[in-house]
Formats: sequence, C-alpha cells, structure tokens
Amino acid sequence: MADGLSAELLRRLRATPGLEVKPGEPLARYTTFRIGGPAELLVTVASERALRRLLAALDGVPCQLLGLGSNVLIPDEGLGGVVLRLVGGFRQVRMEETAVEAGAAVPLGRLARLTAEASLSGLEALSGFPSTVGGAVYMNAGSYGTEIRDVLEWATVMDRGGGRRRLTADQLEPSYRRTALQGTGAIVTRARFALSAGDREASLARIEELNRRRWSSLPSGRPNAGSIFRNPEGDYAGRLIEHCGLKGRRSGGARISPKHGNVIVNEQQASAADVLDLMLLARRAVKKKTGIELEPELVLTGSLAECWRHAPA
Ligand SMILES: Cc1cc2nc3c(=O)[nH]c(=O)nc-3n(C[C@H](O)[C@H](O)[C@H](O)COP(=O)(O)OP(=O)(O)OC[C@H]3O[C@@H](n4cnc5c(N)ncnc54)[C@H](O)[C@@H]3O)c2cc1C
Repeated sequence: MADGLSAELLRRLRATPGLEVKPGEPLARYTTFRIGGPAELLVTVASERALRRLLAALDGVPCQLLGLGSNVLIPDEGLGGVVLRLVGGFRQVRMEETAVEAGAAVPLGRLARLTAEASLSGLEALSGFPSTVGGAVYMNAGSYGTEIRDVLEWATVMDRGGGRRRLTADQLEPSYRRTALQGTGAIVTRARFALSAGDREASLARIEELNRRRWSSLPSGRPNAGSIFRNPEGDYAGRLIEHCGLKGRRSGGARISPKHGNVIVNEQQASAADVLDLMLLARRAVKKKTGIELEPELVLTGSLAECWRHAPA
C-alpha cells in the first residue's frame, strides 16, 4: 500500500474508468535498462478523458511519465507519487494520403513500418531505436540525420492542469535532444507527421539497412539505455570517454560498453547506483582531461537527478 498517497486518492483513482492502479509495482521491467525499484503507485491510462481526471485528482502529487523506458534511469529505492503509462486509446494510428496521426503510446518503430507498408516515406531513419511517439516528440529524438522535428507537423499536449493544446513543431522549440516541453510536466497525447508518397519496397529496405547498421555499432544482448551523455558541440561523448581509457570500466553489475564508450550496459543485475557511479566517473575524467563537462542525455529520475546535480564535477 502506498505510504504517502491518501486512501481517498487511491479510492478515487480506482473508481475512475480508464485507469488501472498498481501500488508498489516494480519498475525495472518497464525500462530497457531493467533497473529501478517500485513505483509508489503505477497508473495506466487508457484515454484522454481518464488522463484529465487523473491529473485533476493528483493535485500536486509528484508524477513521472514513462514511455518505453528507453531513456530513463530509475532509482533503486523507486519513485514516490505516481508513475504514469499511456495505453489503450493512446495506441491508435490514423493514416492519411501523405500524413499519419498517432497516439503518444504508439511505438515509433511500429509506426515507421506501418507507414512504409503504406508507401509513405519519412519515418525510416527513426525506426531503429526503442521509443514511443510521445517520448520521441518530448526528446526530439533523432538518428541518421533525421530528427522528429523534420517530420512532425504538430503534437497535442495536456498540461498538468488538464488543459489541452496543439503545438506545431516550431512551437516545441526543438533542438538537439531538447524541446520546450522538458521540465514543464506537459504530456504529449498525440502527434501528426507529414510524410511523402514513396516506394514501399525502398522504404522497407532502408529500414532494414539502417537497423543493421545501428545494431552493429551498439552492444547487443545486454540491457542498456542507448547514449548516456549528449554529444558536446563538435565532438562525441563516446570518443571522449574512450580517450580517458574508460571503455570496459565496471562498477558493480554495470559496465561502460567495450564496444561504445557512450553506452553503459547492465551486465549483471546492476543497480541504478552502479550506473550513476560510472556516469560520475566519466564526467570527472573527461572534465579533468579535456575541460569539457558531459551532460546526461539519459533522464535521471527521482533522487538520481539531485545526486547528479550535487556530486562534484
Ligand atoms: C538501444 C538504444 C538506442 C537508442 N538510440 C537512440 C537514437 O539513435 N536517437 C535517439 O534520439 N535516442 C535513442 N535512444 C534513446 C531513446 O530511445 C529515446 O530518447 C526515446 O525517444 C525515448 O522514448 P521512450 O518512449 O522510451 O521514453 P522514456 O525513456 O520512457 O522517457 C524519456 C523521457 O520522455 C518523457 N516522456 C515519455 N513519453 C512522454 C509523453 N507522452 N509526453 C511527455 N513526455 C514523455 C519521460 O517522462 C522521460 O522524461 C536509444 C535508446 C536505446 C535503448
């Protein structure tokens, strides 16, 4: 049973159609790192209406949204308050002649394949990493020279007060792995992508080829969260970490991948503390050797964000 959340709140949420409530649910399984303690309360939300009612009921209770959990580190002690996942109605896709509209919980790779199958081109380069549509919009995710901003027409977002807005790609102020949504608590509910008429076979072949290229450059078979640090201007975080001799370095069950300096793998039941330890080590070593301060791309949740901010750089 949740300690900090009131019994009245739990009762209200349980009685709300479209919400499923799980107190104490372990979160590791909801992340690609397979790391993290329990949520005080995990709530799955099946519709916009249910989301609005949930946000109204929360009234200031801390709330962390999870997509596919491919870019987050969750503390070993878990997360207080509510952890939210979008399901059901947020997985709908509506295809048009040269555009597609998708709910925030649709996996981006699935959307890329669906549109390629329908001879629509534009999402191929974004198909090869684990992401929901909502997570990718929030992060302005990108790969192989394409960012979400290049194909996004608009996204609908709900703020913590339940207000709904439609924002164009420009209004999201996208830059490298950043958007104006970050830090605001706004939730992406839906997005529309402008695509072009293409060739089905060519798009599917490009998806296959880019995926092959991607997996040959990343450690496979071990849970990870992709790039840990943002690339500094004009350089690569992986190159800098390698330059400091840290490839292959271990802390507990976590290891800086011997294949890619900017990826940490969960080799053997790693804890979040193990991962954070390697991140702090890399930040210190790179700063000392090059003067460059690495910044996380990985979203550090709960107490981890504080630990990162307060640890000596
Ligand atoms: C093997 C691997 C390779 C990767 N390669 C790339 C790559 O090439 N390019 C790249 O950009 N990223 C890459 N990543 C990182 C990750 O895939 C992206 O950042 C992705 O867009 C995160 O989406 P998600 O749904 O998993 O979000 P999560 O990891 O669950 O969440 C990330 C952040 O987004 C927020 N969020 C999630 N959904 C929403 C929503 N609906 N509304 C508002 N906020 C939301 C969360 O609260 C959190 O702050 C890689 C990750 C892995 C594991």
